[in-house]
Amino acid sequence: MGCTSEHASTALGGLKMTITVTQLSSWLRIYAELINEHTEELTQLDSAIGDADHGTNMQRGTAAVLAAIDANPADDAAALFKTAGMALVSKVGGASGPLYGTFFIRAAASAGAVTELSSHDFAKLLHAGLEGVVARGKPEPGDKTMFDALAPAVEAVDDALDDGASLSDALAAAVTAANAGRDATIPMLARKGRASYLGERSVGHQDPGATSAALLITAAARAFG
Ligand code: ADP
Ligand code: MG
Repeated sequence: MGCTSEHASTALGGLKMTITVTQLSSWLRIYAELINEHTEELTQLDSAIGDADHGTNMQRGTAAVLAAIDANPADDAAALFKTAGMALVSKVGGASGPLYGTFFIRAAASAGAVTELSSHDFAKLLHAGLEGVVARGKPEPGDKTMFDALAPAVEAVDDALDDGASLSDALAAAVTAANAGRDATIPMLARKGRASYLGERSVGHQDPGATSAALLITAAARAFG
């Protein structure tokens, strides 16, 4: 139970860890860097089962996020994530823009206008973001989407924090889970988005959105780890 582990980590003192707004914006900056490093790969994956634009969509989106947060420096977590989410929704034409945008807009509402987050606040924010993706795209487990990388990562953070792990260790576990979830999309038959138009021909290809979602978790591990 959340309450029990929260009390436990407070009692243990040393496990208490806070994330500042500067660290949250580092998450977004590191994500943009990782997207830049992987643009070609994401586009390549999307050329196999989509329309070859996921890399450029995400590059445009994360560049717009950085421009927006630099133009409107945020004093609190909600303002930061709302600015990021709005930039993604408004600047990315593909399905991924509204999906990641909704992730951050829901994360903003979960975090609230605070200047520091606890590990448990961060876990809660990830849940809210994931629920936003589900509300927007209606992905189910195994549909071969970003959900298949994000959901195991969110669960891994919960499990690790419940076991009393540090945020750094929880995020390391989340990266492993996200990467495994990404890899597990290869044999899946796509049931959502453009890739679903291919039916059986979508089998045997890694989902581009699951790949960018795993990078989002890697960015968090680097920013807070
Ligand atoms: P588009 O498909 O419009 O060209 P992108 O290529 O940028 O957009 O993004 C494709 C990715 O979006 C897919 O690989 C998949 O992970 C994700 N996606 C598409 N539709 C959905 C959906 N309904 N729910 C969750 N994720 C989805
Ligand atoms: Mg595409």
